[in-house]
Amino acid sequence: MVLAQLGGSISRALAQMSNATVIDEKVLNDCLNEISRALLQADVQFKMVRDMQTNIKRIVNLEALAAGTNKRRIMQQAVFTELCNMLDPGKPNFTPKKGKPSVVMFVGLQGSGKTTTCTKYAYYHQRKGFKPALVCADTFRAGAFDQLKQNATKAKIPFYGSYMESDPVKIAVEGVERFRQENCDLIIVDTSGRHKQEAALFEEMRQVSEATKPDLVIFVMDSSIGQAAFDQAQAFKQSVSVGAVIITKMDGHAKGGGALSAINAVEPGVTVFRTISFVVPLVCVCVTSVAATKSPVIFIGTGEHIDEFEVFDVKPFVSRLLGMGDWSGFMDKIHEVVPTDQQPELLQKLSEGSFTLRLMYEQFQNIMKMGPIGQVFSMLPGFSSELMPKGHEKESQAKIKRYMTMMDSMTDAELDSTNPKLMTESRIIRIARGSGRPVRDVMDMLEEYKRLAKIWGKMKGLKIPKKGEMSALSRNMNV
Ligand code: GDP
Repeated sequence: MVLAQLGGSISRALAQMSNATVIDEKVLNDCLNEISRALLQADVQFKMVRDMQTNIKRIVNLEALAAGTNKRRIMQQAVFTELCNMLDPGKPNFTPKKGKPSVVMFVGLQGSGKTTTCTKYAYYHQRKGFKPALVCADTFRAGAFDQLKQNATKAKIPFYGSYMESDPVKIAVEGVERFRQENCDLIIVDTSGRHKQEAALFEEMRQVSEATKPDLVIFVMDSSIGQAAFDQAQAFKQSVSVGAVIITKMDGHAKGGGALSAINAVEPGVTVFRTISFVVPLVCVCVTSVAATKSPVIFIGTGEHIDEFEVFDVKPFVSRLLGMGDWSGFMDKIHEVVPTDQQPELLQKLSEGSFTLRLMYEQFQNIMKMGPIGQVFSMLPGFSSELMPKGHEKESQAKIKRYMTMMDSMTDAELDSTNPKLMTESRIIRIARGSGRPVRDVMDMLEEYKRLAKIWGKMKGLKIPKKGEMSALSRNMNV
């Protein structure tokens, strides 16, 4: 079985169980065997799969369950919980705090994406109000310092490194010291990698770690390594005390980029198997690296650009894997992009199923205000894949401005209506004239509105969970 079938197989097994008239021992066993087979074929270790089976059977003790209990629901909940447990070893042993100096050291093989990820991590925290700094203690790879310098300069993050000094420990110590004095609260040390695991690499890592005493060591791993993940992660864990994992190049698995845009346009509450080519390699690498390091995956890299970096959250991820939609991801995006005072009204309107042109206009305003547009756009469901294809950010920005100009020529009644029939030919011609745009453009804007209204309209009638309300989330998804 190819990896990309894992999520589908698990969901099918659950669906088969749901279709059975009676849930008995045989139905339960068939379902569990199916799920286990899928996980094993996706390279998840035998012991983990066996443990998962045992745990689920313990939770779903059919004989002990009182008559009238919803066994399907309990079974689904158990699978959901167990998959979450496999991926979730708990919080990292350290989380940076604003205003409190901390040192985070990055380790990983050469080419895993370590240097790129250091900058992404710094940039992510800079946007959250931290004062990060980057230290290049990679003296092994020619060009490493130049790369870090270039990335850091673009992101306006202070950096430290040397072309002359060949001792990584010395550079690391000097860099950390300098940035401590400059009151940076997140000092990130990029260390050398090697093409393969070797003693010299681990020795150097140990020395840098001893000299800089990092609060957190992050192991960076390329998602495409498949079965080698366990050994590699374990080897790093044994040399330095890895506290968290970041998995890179997740976009490499997306067929033609389709899976990633599907993720960005996740339609809440809808079965989203479309994302499966993205999530399955991640399950394999995540489960394995989590097992090997006993550390959580905290972020994933989803592209070469600095903003192609996502927080990794187990529960929404498993929801997505099982085709249950990503409610909390959706909510987080709303919380992140939409100003706080506008959120209740927006959510209320969405739950009433009224996505008006005014709401679209307001979201465009939010997006334009927050720029850089590429970083913000993909956060709102439906706003990324078609309206803003990757690499065409400038054109998309111009398009949005055009749409807004046309909407400026609309009446209040038009902006607040949810009735598409209101937009008669004469109104369209009036808007075109008023905005100085061809009729074709107005039609194009209305089509875009209909597309977004369809996606956002899926929220109608659903209880909207507040940020972090996973229990409500589970109820909504009928888990
Ligand atoms: P290092 O040797 O571990 O420091 O790796 P680099 O940071 O130099 O990255 C190696 C290559 O992987 C570079 O071309 C990066 O642009 C690329 N890269 C890093 N992270 C990602 C990612 O999440 N997605 C993609 N597509 N490429 C990435």
